[in-house]
Amino acid sequence: MNLSVIVPCYNEEESVEIFYNELVKQLNDEKITHEVLFINDGSIDDTMIKLEGLSKKDKNVKIISFSKNFGKESAMLAGLEHASGKYVSIIDADLQQPVEVLISMYKKLIDNKDYDIVAAYRENRDNENKIKTMLTPLFYKIINKTSEIKLLPGASDFRVFKKEVKDAIISLKEQSRFLKGMFSWVGFNTIYVPYEPLDRKFGKSKWSLIKLIKYAIGGIVSFSTFPLAVVFVVSAVLFILSLLNVLFGIFGMKTLILFLSIIGLMIGVISLYLIRMYKNSLQRPHYIIKEKIGFRATKLK
Ligand code: UDP
Ligand code: MG
Repeated sequence: MNLSVIVPCYNEEESVEIFYNELVKQLNDEKITHEVLFINDGSIDDTMIKLEGLSKKDKNVKIISFSKNFGKESAMLAGLEHASGKYVSIIDADLQQPVEVLISMYKKLIDNKDYDIVAAYRENRDNENKIKTMLTPLFYKIINKTSEIKLLPGASDFRVFKKEVKDAIISLKEQSRFLKGMFSWVGFNTIYVPYEPLDRKFGKSKWSLIKLIKYAIGGIVSFSTFPLAVVFVVSAVLFILSLLNVLFGIFGMKTLILFLSIIGLMIGVISLYLIRMYKNSLQRPHYIIKEKIGFRATKLK
């Protein structure tokens, strides 16, 4: 079996069957032996019923169903941990990422022995709201300037890669996962291909602005300690200024209150890292599986 297709699904009852038909048609046309790993991330609609229907008629369909919604990062991890193909891919269930692009990324990967990862990045971001369009470049700037990883603006989890890359990603054990960053951190040769996301036909995006900001801050905290270095430098500057103030009494009340609020902000930055450490120390599993369907009995331990 050559290609494992990982598909995270959260409330995608209208899309999964259309997506599956399109995917399998194109994989069969290209004679690509495959397994399709659907991760049902605690959907509260009929996604699971639809998926069970698919697995009944196709033995290449495998389902991992979570006990509740753990988020796309956890769903992708479960997919990686259960994928058995020589090549592995991740694609959304919502029909926004065209199956043709997946197939062409796969072909690129097997045709070029030098490539390890073929990743799609979105070229056109017209249909996003204004705040998102403003904040996104800022996020990429901060992460690329201050961290040990490099992210291409618009790059997504929509990728095809070798089994070795999958094993490397699984070996990273951090609690808060930021897959795009992890792909960069593990290295390997990556080639980027542009794609244009299609409009969402059914349901709506699970990303609110707040969720996105949390995700971006999480990415920065995971891969950069630069903000902590800034805290150190700023506190050193504040110390020198206060010393000068004791000696010469240069600052008024307003300025001193400003100093205090800067210290407050810096405590906020430190607490982001503390939260991360606390969560990591709990060592909770990334997901809990309620049911697995389609895996051969020998595979189940
Ligand atoms: N998804 C998931 N768990 C979640 C949220 C989303 O498995 O908690 C899945 C969702 O079903 C879809 C993919 O992740 O297949 C991308 O989600 P979405 O379309 O909401 O993100 P966007 O395309 O807007 O970035
Ligand atoms: Mg989407």
